[in-house]
Amino acid sequence: MITISNVRKHYGNLEVLKGISLDVSTGEVVCLIGPSGSGKSTLLRCINALETYDGGDIHIGDRRVDAASRDIHQLRASVGMVFQRFNLFPHRTVLENVIEGAVQVRRERKQGATDYAMELLTKVGMQHKRDCMPHQLSGGQQQRVAIARALAMRPTALLFDEPTSALDPELVGDVLAVMRELAREGMTMVVVTHEMGFAREVADKVCFLCDGVIAESGPAAQVLESPRHPRTQDFLRRVRR
Ligand code: ADP
Ligand code: MG
Repeated sequence: MITISNVRKHYGNLEVLKGISLDVSTGEVVCLIGPSGSGKSTLLRCINALETYDGGDIHIGDRRVDAASRDIHQLRASVGMVFQRFNLFPHRTVLENVIEGAVQVRRERKQGATDYAMELLTKVGMQHKRDCMPHQLSGGQQQRVAIARALAMRPTALLFDEPTSALDPELVGDVLAVMRELAREGMTMVVVTHEMGFAREVADKVCFLCDGVIAESGPAAQVLESPRHPRTQDFLRRVRR
C-alpha cells in the first residue's frame, strides 16, 4: 500500500534522509524508532506530502506522492496524520473539529458527516465531549479527538508522529488503547513512537532509523529483543534505562 524506495531529502547541506526504502502492506503496522534528529518526522511528512523529497519515490497504492501535484488534498486525505501536539482547531468544538475535513475537503453532507463523527467519537470514548472546546480537554482527550478527526477522512492509512510523547504518563494508555484497537481492525499504520511496549505488542515490523538510514528492520520481536545492529542495541539500552 505504501512503497518507499530510496528516498532522499536535504535541508541545505544537511542530508536528513539518505536513501530510505520501506514497504507497508495493507493492514500492516510499522513502528519507526530511533534517536532524535534521525529523520523520523521528515519521513512521515514526505509520505503525507507535507514535505517534498529530493530523490527516490513514494507511492500510496499506485499514486506517486508529489507535494507539487494538483490533487494533493486528495492524497493528504487518503493518508491521515496524527501529530505529537494534537493540532485541533482551537476555536471549534470537538464535533466541529471532526466533521470539518469531511465537509470541506470530502464535500460530505453535514448530517452524514455528523453521524459518522459521532460514531468515531464514541469509538475513541469522546462522544460526551462533542460540544467542548479543545482547551477544555486533557491532552489525552485532545489526542483521541485528533484520531477521530483523522478517521473522519476515511483514510486508507494513518501516520502517527509520537502521538503520546506530549502526554502526561497517566493519559498515554487511553491513546494507545485506541491505536491498538485500530490496528486490530486492520488499519494500515506507520507509527513513530518511543513506546517500546506498544511497538512490541502491536507492530508487525519495527524499523530503526539512525542518521537518515534504516539501520535495522524486521519483526518487532527480533528488532526489539535481539537487535543485531550495535546502534539499535545502544538505542534500546538508553530508552529502556
Ligand atoms: P526526528 O523526527 O527523528 O527527531 P526530524 O525528521 O525532525 O528528526 O529531523 C531530522 C533532521 O532534520 C534534524 O537534524 C532536524 O534539525 C532537521 N530538520 C527537520 N526539519 C527541518 C527544516 N524544516 N529545516 C531544516 N532542518 C530541518
Ligand atoms: Mg520527530
